[in-house]
Amino acid sequence: MDRMKPKPDYVAAWETYRRVRRWLYVLLLAALVAFPALGICGALFARTTLAEHAQNVIGAIAVIVGLPWMLLVILIAFYLQLFVCPRCHRFFFMTWWYRNPFAQRCVNCRLPKWATEDIPEPWPVRPFS
Ligand SMILES: [Zn+2]
Repeated sequence: MDRMKPKPDYVAAWETYRRVRRWLYVLLLAALVAFPALGICGALFARTTLAEHAQNVIGAIAVIVGLPWMLLVILIAFYLQLFVCPRCHRFFFMTWWYRNPFAQRCVNCRLPKWATEDIPEPWPVRPFS
């Protein structure tokens, strides 16, 4: 059986999705390290003469860096939700009434996630379209 060559637009779409998702993971993991580190710094300065000044600086850092950080995480998560399927050019993870951010197939055309070529439907039933 001849295998079809990977479609360049499919490969490009998945590369973009993978790159953006990787940024989301990096931001989330960095937050898991950075925010406890700020708390530890606050605790270290708590009993010193610089306690009030240090708490103000740490609070300012948390607000100035933390709010845009969270906003960026939310925007990237929305962007990933709005990922367009390379085959049907509709949203991969949602229809007008259904949403599944963990879908392993396009909820509109059932293209498997990460597919770089058209894969025929294994069955004719399309429950979410
Ligand atoms: Zn699709």
